[in-house]
Amino acid sequence: MISKRLQASLDGSVCIRDIFEEGKKLASIYGQENIFNFSIGNPNVAPPAIVNETLKEVLDREDPLTLHGYPANVGHPDVRQCIADYLNQRYHTRYTIDGIIMTSGAASALAILCNTFLDQGDEVITFAPYFWEYKSYVETMYGKLVPALCDQNTLQPDPATFEAAFSPKTRMVFINTPNNPTGAVYTEASIKKVAEIMERKEKEYGHPIYLVSDEPYRLLAYGGLTVPYLPHYYKDTIVVYSYSKTLSIPGERVGYIAMEGSVADFANVVAGITASIRYLGYVNAPSLQQKMLLKCVDATVDISIYEKNRDLLYKSLTDIGYECIHPDGAFYLFMRSLEPDDAKFCDRAKEEKILMAPGTAFGGPGFVRVSYCVPYDVVQRSIPAFKRLYDKYKK
Ligand code: PLP
Repeated sequence: MISKRLQASLDGSVCIRDIFEEGKKLASIYGQENIFNFSIGNPNVAPPAIVNETLKEVLDREDPLTLHGYPANVGHPDVRQCIADYLNQRYHTRYTIDGIIMTSGAASALAILCNTFLDQGDEVITFAPYFWEYKSYVETMYGKLVPALCDQNTLQPDPATFEAAFSPKTRMVFINTPNNPTGAVYTEASIKKVAEIMERKEKEYGHPIYLVSDEPYRLLAYGGLTVPYLPHYYKDTIVVYSYSKTLSIPGERVGYIAMEGSVADFANVVAGITASIRYLGYVNAPSLQQKMLLKCVDATVDISIYEKNRDLLYKSLTDIGYECIHPDGAFYLFMRSLEPDDAKFCDRAKEEKILMAPGTAFGGPGFVRVSYCVPYDVVQRSIPAFKRLYDKYKK
């Protein structure tokens, strides 16, 4: 018997991975080429060659006992310094080695921050739609996630809804841009408004409210778009970064937390994060993958592959008549459901062998998420199926 707390969170949850697995089952019946599985966010673009080259080099070069032994909980010093230098050069920031803490991807970083900041009943605001796991990270630490619904026409943060979500118990705000599930990149105007409200709320409540910028998709923005760097707008920003998507290595589990020295209560927060890494059982980010970053810190996958998918999908779907929010980043497209119940719409789509995730699974009812990290020919071949689905509703 599992805990009542966990059982309650399992009951009624929509598991995107289950939809993905269903897609695999359908593929075994109807043939892979006849299934259009847009359900999951697993990168389909190969990691840049330098990733494997460097891993081999590191294995040959480093002393095995040091390489495979326990590094410090916060990570290898040379790697942390390398990331601080890279960020300072790219974003004109002032990170020091102390403010860079290596983690097992963004997921563990978010759980670590929840453990660091939350007491029972404390609140974390996030902009909805949102990456559903936020709820698990917050609730596991006995906190409460408070979604602030974005403007339904632009999927940008809505200042009034955001402001109304605050309470004296608010400790953190989770922000994710480029966004999963919407593909939206929050504009500079949106970010400035968010920062202004947070500064006001910090003063009103008299305690720090940390802006946690969850940015696994930071470098996946299209058309030369610049993604505003959050620490430039709000002092108490903690960046959570992951190499899962920019290097296509989600199975390798490496990322970091970055904080400038000006972040409120800096030394104590670093101590809290370091302890949380141990208390939660992460111990340290994988040593070999950390060392690989010494040469790959500025590498990225070929994002033109995702951009090509995005362009074809957005144009084809809107030509058919679907209403889609133009996705500027990540590899997701958010499309309005053709019926009020988005889960039913996804079921209907399965009749055409299209698998998508219902927006409700991300706190965004009335929409569906189409993950276009799939081969280009899958996007091409799916278009007639999307047309048939549309015609079922509109003819
Ligand atoms: N945050 C967002 C918004 C995501 O989409 C994901 C993964 O899909 C994560 C965090 C977790 O990523 P990882 O733990 O692989 O770095």
